[in-house]
Amino acid sequence: MKKCMCCFKETDTYVIRKDSNNDDLLLCNDCDILFFNELNEVNVDIIYPDEIKEKLDKKVIGQEYAKKILSFEIYRHTLRIKNHGFVELNKGNIMLIGPSGTGKTLLIKTLCDIVKLPFVEVDITSYTQVGYVGLNVSDIIKSLLKEANGNVSLAEFGIIFIDEIDKISKRTSGDSKDVSGEGVQQNLLKMLEGTIVRIQNEDNETVEVNTKNILFIGGGAFTGIEEWVKERIVEKKFGFKEFVNPDNNIVENNNLRQYVKIEDVINYGILSEFIGRFPLIVSLNSLNREELYKIGKIEIEREIINYFSLMGKKIKVKEESIREIVNKCINHPLGARAIRTNIHDMFKDTLYELVMSDEKEIEI
Ligand code: ADP
Repeated sequence: MKKCMCCFKETDTYVIRKDSNNDDLLLCNDCDILFFNELNEVNVDIIYPDEIKEKLDKKVIGQEYAKKILSFEIYRHTLRIKNHGFVELNKGNIMLIGPSGTGKTLLIKTLCDIVKLPFVEVDITSYTQVGYVGLNVSDIIKSLLKEANGNVSLAEFGIIFIDEIDKISKRTSGDSKDVSGEGVQQNLLKMLEGTIVRIQNEDNETVEVNTKNILFIGGGAFTGIEEWVKERIVEKKFGFKEFVNPDNNIVENNNLRQYVKIEDVINYGILSEFIGRFPLIVSLNSLNREELYKIGKIEIEREIINYFSLMGKKIKVKEESIREIVNKCINHPLGARAIRTNIHDMFKDTLYELVMSDEKEIEI
């Protein structure tokens, strides 16, 4: 127990600030709020879901269902921030299930930009490589606080995206047990459940960040989870490729992911206590040819056209070249991420020559 240097009450949880002489000032939470309230003010705009979705549409191609659900969920999160505990509200962490390179990170990052909330992406694979001992929750929270410019209250309503959750399932690609994966899940659980993390801020003050209201979004490809969905879905009718779900809708083999439920994720090897912290499961689609074409056009603009405009040159990329790139990316394990590599593969020699040429208007 420490004694608050302002109200002199004994306190379990405290914050160390600096006074005007740069000496340490130990404050209980109440006094900290009283004196540093202005510093910690959370200023968030309430934006309606349709406006959020409209802004998302400008950056994220396709994924209509996920965009709708997430726009609503982020709107709910901002309401929770404004609520200040007046009415009782649940928090709903979200699990995004979808192949690599389909826009999961882009979606969350764009949402955070729209509502101006601090965002941190956790690279779970770096933890599994060094074993669960390497998982350092305070480092994650420290990054979030940095993104919130040191505003503890804002960080406490920030968003943490934990990608590649499927990599910490008990099973790896085969049936072998991955013990460290389970360890990482256990470690993350504390943060998901809500805990007070004591960290040093950039001014070397000790501050406490409560993770209770942080919105956690999980992501993962969960390759092969369809097998568990298939097993759960009741009746096999109409031949080999079609199934009927409990609502009597025909389910095709290629859209089984949208029926993923918590029990499928548990069967996949994620601890029930862990997935239980993500009440909302949203599935993302593989990107189709037209969607990849639109992304291809955007990437070509950023990779080539805009660079050439800085050199005073106008460059046009033929539609057939973009289609050729799309053909190489369809069903690619890296999804849309493969587009940039393929743009480089296709044009790297040509671009080198073109930079040196005197031509001002070029088509490639
Ligand atoms: P994921 O998190 O699903 O693995 P990312 O969101 O990191 O994939 O996507 C990688 C890159 O691919 C993005 O930075 C973006 O350039 C492009 N991309 C992927 N999906 C989309 C999409 N639906 N709309 C626009 N660009 C996309």
